[in-house]
Amino acid sequence: ALTIGIVGLPNVGKSTLFNALTRAEVLAANYPFATIDPNVGMVPLPDPRLGQLAEVFGSEKLVPASVSFVDIAGIVKGASEGEGLGNKFLANIREADAICQVTRAFADPDVTRVEGSTDPSNDMEVITTELILADLQTIENSMQRLEKDTKRGLVDAAVLPNVVKAKALLETGKTLYQGADDAGVDVAALRELQLMTAKPFIYVFNTDEEGLADASSQKALKNLVAPAEAIFLDAKFEAELIELDEDEAAEMLESTGQEESGLAQLARVGFDTLGLQTYLTAGPKESRAWTIPKGATAPQAAGVIHTDFERGFIKAEIVSIDHLLEAGSMAEAKAKGKVRIEGKDYVMKDGDVVEFRFNV
Ligand code: GDP
Repeated sequence: ALTIGIVGLPNVGKSTLFNALTRAEVLAANYPFATIDPNVGMVPLPDPRLGQLAEVFGSEKLVPASVSFVDIAGIVKGASEGEGLGNKFLANIREADAICQVTRAFADPDVTRVEGSTDPSNDMEVITTELILADLQTIENSMQRLEKDTKRGLVDAAVLPNVVKAKALLETGKTLYQGADDAGVDVAALRELQLMTAKPFIYVFNTDEEGLADASSQKALKNLVAPAEAIFLDAKFEAELIELDEDEAAEMLESTGQEESGLAQLARVGFDTLGLQTYLTAGPKESRAWTIPKGATAPQAAGVIHTDFERGFIKAEIVSIDHLLEAGSMAEAKAKGKVRIEGKDYVMKDGDVVEFRFNV
């Protein structure tokens, strides 16, 4: 499964956030995975449609999709030089499919800041600089080999010029994720280098009650990280919220003027940033959300349930969840002509409720 690596300077609230994420995993009903890895938090993707679907079918249980987060401790100034934890830290980041940077935006004078940490934009710069320096090192280390291999025709001719452009961009202090498009860098050509700043970024600002209510400072931080997404949450509050039952949690959220918990936002944005979407299946036993890459075709979607389903795919019976809920039952949706038969070239849409037909 695709994972999001959580990084940030010490004492910014990463563990607090990660503990809330793993707690969410443990509390999720019908936990579909057998073992729980302490370094991975599988967070259910919030999707109110699943409950509505379960009502239509009288499903016994709900199985939401999930997003996995990995706690990557150890970034400090100098991490890119590979001191101590540095190397392991960088290896862990390389394995993640997206990077979630946590920065501190809460005021609490009782919690000391590590050296070099002053405010969110400075924290971000420290972390980003380390990642950029690490990428520059990767590029420098591979340059000679790439030049040789290009001459011998062992490497695609598009790689080297893109590496040169990427280097120039990184030297201006920009990540590839932020600047590749404008600088005309084809990141696909750089894939084998596994550059960290080419991964999608999400920014979490761990803030307090005041910060959550401060729309203008949020706007400024949002602009600073765009096109990456910014999420504002209070990690300590999230850790308390996750212990409450659904009704109490909703009340507590409302009392602070938030519409959705920070964890729910993080799961949603993370899922989207990873380039994923869901489709739904339903029956008396369960209503379930299945994870597919955006742009997946019907047979590929079937393959997520079972590889045999992909191989033996014949067709898919599909109704959009909105049409189904409006009709109130599958039979009524059919009678209204809302259930479509789609073939092997069909590209799945968000909210498709599906039944596959296949040969085994
Ligand atoms: P990490 O080093 O980044 O993993 O940070 P921790 O999660 O261990 O948090 C460091 C300290 O900050 C702990 O004492 C936390 O209780 C505290 N802390 C974390 N998040 C918040 C927050 O949102 N508000 C306040 N006031 N304190 C927090």
